[in-house]
Amino acid sequence: MSEQRYAVIIAGGGTAGLSCALFLARADVTVAVFDTERSSLRRVSRLNNYLGFPEGISGNDLLDLSRRQAERFGAHVYASNIETAQRRDGRFVVTTAEGICSSDYLVIASNKRTDLATGLGLPLGGFGSKFVSVDAEGKTAVENCYAAGRITGLPSQAVISAGDGAKAAIALIQKIRGEYYVDHDT
Ligand SMILES: Cc1cc2nc3c(=O)[nH]c(=O)nc-3n(C[C@H](O)[C@H](O)[C@H](O)COP(=O)(O)OP(=O)(O)OC[C@H]3O[C@@H](n4cnc5c(N)ncnc54)[C@H](O)[C@@H]3O)c2cc1C
Repeated sequence: MSEQRYAVIIAGGGTAGLSCALFLARADVTVAVFDTERSSLRRVSRLNNYLGFPEGISGNDLLDLSRRQAERFGAHVYASNIETAQRRDGRFVVTTAEGICSSDYLVIASNKRTDLATGLGLPLGGFGSKFVSVDAEGKTAVENCYAAGRITGLPSQAVISAGDGAKAAIALIQKIRGEYYVDHDT
């Protein structure tokens, strides 16, 4: 991978990051997710409180299905670590082992890993000082940088992170398009 450009780069492919990617991709927004596959869900043998799975589902299966769903609509999902994220000339530049990518917007959905947030100058707060502050749309204090999921201090539930990722995506789509947006199938 070398010098790929996207509209949105998402750091983290848990339910927050993948849900965000799904909605963005369905709106034809070019999006890449980078994920080191360290979600706690991957250690959960049977998740019984994620809506839509009455018999429960393993964390691995849920995340693998979610990835496939986002990819089906055009999201690029890489099993790679984002080492650094920097703001340069109005864009975000991220470095991975494979190379450099840039984007207009960055979504931090990295849960316990706060290094990218602090590297961009975002202060941490909340209980244990490990959360990033966002507004109602998921915007952080850094222009065009959003955060979603558990890293924003929401309750630690997978379905809540999924909804929060979708919410940030809708806000981003509305900002990019400059108009009201919903994703309703018929
Ligand atoms: C033991 C345990 C059991 C749990 N059981 C349940 C349960 O039964 N039901 C439930 O709803 N919740 C459960 N949870 C909570 C649930 O795991 C979290 O609330 C949920 O995973 C948060 O989703 P997220 O997308 O915000 O973050 P995560 O799922 O943690 O995803 C963040 C992802 O970002 C990746 N990442 C971080 N930094 C980078 C980087 N720089 N570059 C690339 N990738 C990066 C990580 O590898 C990870 O895959 C449990 C948690 C634990 C610890």
